[in-house]
Amino acid sequence: MILSPERAQRPYKFGERAESISHPEYDPKCPFCPGNEAETPKEVFALRDGSAPDTPGWRVRVVENKFPALSLNREGLRATYGLYRWMEGVGRHEVIIESPIHNRTPALMSIDEVKDLLTAYHRRYLELSKGPRYPIIIIFRNQGPQAGTSLAHPHSQLIASPVVPRHIRYDLKEAERYWDDQGSCVYCDLMKFEVQERARLVSKNDDFLGIAPYASTLPYELWILPRVHQASFGELPEVGIEPLAWILRDCLRRLYRLLNNPDYNYVIHSAPHSTAGQPHYHWHLEILPRLTTRAGFEIGSGMYINIVAPEVAAERLRSVQVEEER
Ligand SMILES: [Zn+2]
Ligand SMILES: [Zn+2]
Repeated sequence: MILSPERAQRPYKFGERAESISHPEYDPKCPFCPGNEAETPKEVFALRDGSAPDTPGWRVRVVENKFPALSLNREGLRATYGLYRWMEGVGRHEVIIESPIHNRTPALMSIDEVKDLLTAYHRRYLELSKGPRYPIIIIFRNQGPQAGTSLAHPHSQLIASPVVPRHIRYDLKEAERYWDDQGSCVYCDLMKFEVQERARLVSKNDDFLGIAPYASTLPYELWILPRVHQASFGELPEVGIEPLAWILRDCLRRLYRLLNNPDYNYVIHSAPHSTAGQPHYHWHLEILPRLTTRAGFEIGSGMYINIVAPEVAAERLRSVQVEEER
């Protein structure tokens, strides 16, 4: 990473939005709004208060993606074409509809709403982890057009894939290499150091830390890590969902207040559930604000220019006043 705070002086909108986006609480044309359940594929999971599936009355609702990147209805056929290899896009692609309210966003949710959202992640993760079919499950959220959202209604996505993508394999391998060299988990060691140093610490509770990672490539990038060692997101016990809800909302709310509702992606990085209990990988959630655009420099060199040092980002985020109501 190249740190270049001077570049923040360049004339472009950083931390301010071109137009302030405001949506209504309910949009009759939105397929994710209550009453329009028939417009989505059938629900595979929901938290609801006694009402029938695919009717209103839900708090969180999970459906298959109508336009899936990976589909169930394929065999996962592998073939060669000259020197190339290809494989049918088999897997699952689900949408987690986070709230019946069209303009809700996790930064402004109640703790019970964030808990419902995380419970849906956790249950689907555990359900799809059963058996050897999907070694890797990726849960992510896109907020705003810069982050690739095509629908305004708050939603997250889940991908269950039969192959472990290269960049995930790289992370797992690097963590394993550190373990072989040092005999300890790199993420556990990193947390020990960050608690001591404090400069990059943004938020903490008894169970989780929120930090601006050292030499991060994006301005205001944040990681949330469980303080006890857990390799896979599936190892998070159910009682861990509430403290995770508190720290996730706290970090998102700080970003929301400081940067005026920035676009972002967040992604849960986890070891394959079949390797739960392994000592070297440590699941965590990465929040990646979309404040700058990757251009030729980054694409060509593979090096990233960050215009806000993580220590500065952490200090600014710590100083944000956030309400702590349930
Ligand atoms: Zn909606
Ligand atoms: Zn660890």
